[in-house]
Amino acid sequence: MTVGVESTHRMAELTLAALKKIGLPATPTNYEIWYAHAEGKNPALSRDIQKVMDGFGKVSQADAEKLHQTHIQHADLSRDVVDLVTRFQEEVTDLYDVIERTGEYAVGHNEALDGLSDQLRQTTREFPAVGKLLEGMVTVAKDMHSQNEQLETRLADSVTEIHTLQRNVEYIQAEAMKDPLTGIANRAMFDRSLERFVGEAVEKGEALALVMADVDHFKNFNDKWGHQTGDQVLRLVAEVMNANVKGQDLLARYGGEEFAIILPGTSLENAQMLADRIRRAVESRRLRRRRTDENLGVITMSMGISAHRAPDTIETIIERADQCLYAAKESGRNQVITEDVLKAKRSEPSAKAG
Ligand code: GH3
Ligand code: MG
Ligand code: MG
Repeated sequence: MTVGVESTHRMAELTLAALKKIGLPATPTNYEIWYAHAEGKNPALSRDIQKVMDGFGKVSQADAEKLHQTHIQHADLSRDVVDLVTRFQEEVTDLYDVIERTGEYAVGHNEALDGLSDQLRQTTREFPAVGKLLEGMVTVAKDMHSQNEQLETRLADSVTEIHTLQRNVEYIQAEAMKDPLTGIANRAMFDRSLERFVGEAVEKGEALALVMADVDHFKNFNDKWGHQTGDQVLRLVAEVMNANVKGQDLLARYGGEEFAIILPGTSLENAQMLADRIRRAVESRRLRRRRTDENLGVITMSMGISAHRAPDTIETIIERADQCLYAAKESGRNQVITEDVLKAKRSEPSAKAG
């Protein structure tokens, strides 16, 4: 696809104007982020920029670097790995074809030679001169066959090697979709899975729920106990959440101390029961520092849940779960709010001022 000179210049102007407006320098990193944002082809990135803007009214250089890491660098890497795997699989399929054909040919060739040997004995008896000539030819052919066999052995070794390489590539592919701290799915995997699950829900007309969960006052926890202990707690939270999801459900680290669960084929009510079970399980853990066995108290989580409904997009379903999460924080944290509950809350006559 060719892109017009006019439109790229226009996009560059928009990008520079946006950077100027937020007061960020037009470094290659910043330029790349805001160009992608201006193009509007990376909704997850645009959503996160909006989120930072809503929260802080501006984007700091540190925020920009985080956005770049999550949405540009990581996305590029994941895409590269997937492309690599696809190309590799195609090569392997072609190679298998060649090997299979060579094998079939070699077997046929050998059978023909064996048949020929019987006929040759008969011919030699009747016509000794012709028989000698043919014997010479058969010897040459048998030589060729033995070379073929060596080639087959080498090809078989290559097949074993290819299998090992294939397993390595599959491992790398799986690793590229994993969050290194907690071992659960990462943001790239979440984005891709949600896209797929929403597509399937539309196709089959089935339910789908999305839980967005965030650790309460985690900044305070980190400040008090240190980042490393914070990391341990994030691992524990992922473990507790993971123990409560099953089958097709996808648990992912959405970013920082935020987690998401995609629940295909699940109603809002059932998703609420699951989320509340997780919330209680996290709250009931008595945290202790590993090295010193010091009591770290408890941590809690707030969660928001939306359910897919036409004409939902990935953005709108996340947006509604996020609003519910925000409402759960506003209402005092350590609670689960679904979009039905939020709707009911909003239509309640507002509490009397007093
Ligand atoms: P709230 O209840 O409103 O969610 O408050 P909060 O303090 O949890 O929220 P805020 O967004 O202000 O702070 C999130 C904190 O999470 C900031 C950072 O210290 C911590 N955090 C994010 N990612 C990590 C991580 O990978 N490891 C550790 N240890 N802490 C993290
Ligand atoms: Mg938090
Ligand atoms: Mg948070």
